[in-house]
Amino acid sequence: MKMSKWTVGIVTISLASIFFSGCWEEGGKGGEKGVEMKIYIIPIGDVEQDPLLRLSWALREKFDGVFEIGERIPLSEDTYRPERRQYFATPLMGDLKKSIPKDADKVLGVLDVDIFVPALNFIFGQADLGGKVALISLTRLREEYYGNNENRELFMERTLKEAVHELGHTFGLRHCANAKCVMHFSNSLMDTDVKEADFCENCRKELELRIK
Ligand SMILES: [Zn+2]
Ligand SMILES: [Zn+2]
Repeated sequence: MKMSKWTVGIVTISLASIFFSGCWEEGGKGGEKGVEMKIYIIPIGDVEQDPLLRLSWALREKFDGVFEIGERIPLSEDTYRPERRQYFATPLMGDLKKSIPKDADKVLGVLDVDIFVPALNFIFGQADLGGKVALISLTRLREEYYGNNENRELFMERTLKEAVHELGHTFGLRHCANAKCVMHFSNSLMDTDVKEADFCENCRKELELRIK
C-alpha cells in the first residue's frame, strides 16, 4: 500500500505549549515481510542508557520481534533552530533513514532534545506511516521538565507509550478514537497518561494483520 498523505493531529500555536503537542506522521513505503522482525533502538546524540535498555525489554512484549540497541548516531546541530530553541524533527528523521542497519525491519530513534515540526509547538515523536523509521524525544516526558519532582516510573511509562505509538504508525496504524488505546493521539501529556501502553482490540488485530 502506498501512502503519501501527511497526517497532522493538531495545528495550533499557543503560548501554553505544555498543553499542545503532537506527533506527525508522513507517508512511507509499504509494510515489510519477515519471519522474525528485528527492530533497532538507535540513540541520537546524548541519551542515557537506562531508558533504552528498559525499552528494549518492554517493547518485546508489545511487538513480535527482536529489539536491539544500535550504534549511536550524532545529533546534527544543523537541525537546531535557535529562534525556537528546538531541533527540527524532519531532517533528524532523514539522518535516521541514512543510518538504518541492513537487517533492520524498523528503527526507533531516541533523542533527548526538544523537537518540533513547523506547524506545531513541539512533538513527542514522529513516524513514517507504514515505513521503517520512527523517532521519540524523552525531553518532555520527564516531570522535571515541568518543574515537578522526578518520577522515574512515570517517565518510563510515558517513554514506552510514545515508543509503542510511533512504532505502531510504522506498521501503518493510524490514530485511534479510543482514549485508552496506545494509538490515541496525545494532544498533551495528560492524554499520554490516560492511555495505556497497549493496543485496543481493533488496533491489535490490525497490527497482527500487518506483521504477518
Ligand atoms: Zn501519532
Ligand atoms: Zn486502538
